[in-house]
Amino acid sequence: MLSFTLESAVAIVAVVCITHSSSSSSTNSSCSSDADSSAEYTIRSNDIPRATHEACHDLHLFKILPLTPEQLCLDMQLVQASYLSNPYHNKHHGADVVSKSAKTLQRDGASLKRRVMEAQCLTLEQWGEHQERRFALFQLAVILAAAMHDVLHPGYNNAYLKAIKHVMALTHTTAEQASVAFFTDIFLSQQHVLNCLSEEERQLVKEIITYAIDETDMSKHGDALKWQAAGELECFKHLAALIVHAADLANGADAWAVSKVWARWCNAEFHAQGDHSLRYHPELPVMKQFNRKVADVPDGQLFFITTFAVPTFEALEAVAPLTAQAGLQGCKMNAAICKVIMQRNKDCLLQRTMSRLGLGTLPRFL
Ligand SMILES: [Zn+2]
Repeated sequence: MLSFTLESAVAIVAVVCITHSSSSSSTNSSCSSDADSSAEYTIRSNDIPRATHEACHDLHLFKILPLTPEQLCLDMQLVQASYLSNPYHNKHHGADVVSKSAKTLQRDGASLKRRVMEAQCLTLEQWGEHQERRFALFQLAVILAAAMHDVLHPGYNNAYLKAIKHVMALTHTTAEQASVAFFTDIFLSQQHVLNCLSEEERQLVKEIITYAIDETDMSKHGDALKWQAAGELECFKHLAALIVHAADLANGADAWAVSKVWARWCNAEFHAQGDHSLRYHPELPVMKQFNRKVADVPDGQLFFITTFAVPTFEALEAVAPLTAQAGLQGCKMNAAICKVIMQRNKDCLLQRTMSRLGLGTLPRFL
């Protein structure tokens, strides 16, 4: 495990942000280094067919369940084509959530099985081939839910969609509900991967996916963290929702070079919404984080990490402790880096003021 200190955060900031500009509304987006290029290339090279194939292969789902790589690939092409080209809520984000959900299923498989056994009051001796297949169905449902969780996302948040009476808001109360509708109305009528399952198995997978996608709605953030599973179906649904929700927020815990790319894309989407609002709906208020002129990106990223990502990984600790520990460690590191950047931005501002007044220079801390 990484040993973490504030000094190590400072050292990382010094290395990755050596060319940082003094703009207070940047997480050092002007940095251009090999680490940045490599991080962006890694993110862009992952897509939904690739991520789902890798997940099903690594979890041995092609062996346990009657599905083939060809069926999966065809279905995931449909899913991927239904993602819009938003700066953040795009096919790469969908693929990233698949990869992270699959990693949790792999890394914490034993712990997750134990939870399912407890919920069904089963002993290890009673866990047989039938339970193994049901667990594989649960894993498949998690992967498919992750793949479809933001499909058709329009790139605006739910409050704004409602306020501007967006066409999506006329038929669905949230963007997540639109993703659920894609799954039930489009995917299920065209898919191949679930056709070889029994009707009862298909129903199980359908219920898990529907629940997990809907629970990625940030207004349900608190619900997803509550652990209240009794019985197989409830257990599968809550585990799936928590795993996908944690994966959805986990870019705040990625290695800094990667986390920074996601933060940049997320803020590009926020600012595009702010621009749209200012231009077409001047009657609506624009929150600070959506207004590119006043947004404080490091502060916003710190808020996201501490308010949403950390509590999610803390909740995950009870069911997927290895993923939770890795996530909390990443959050701690990235939060410290955000604080250092914020302090440096303040120092830069003060330095410019002092220079204008002819008052000399600040002592250097980094
Ligand atoms: Zn998402």
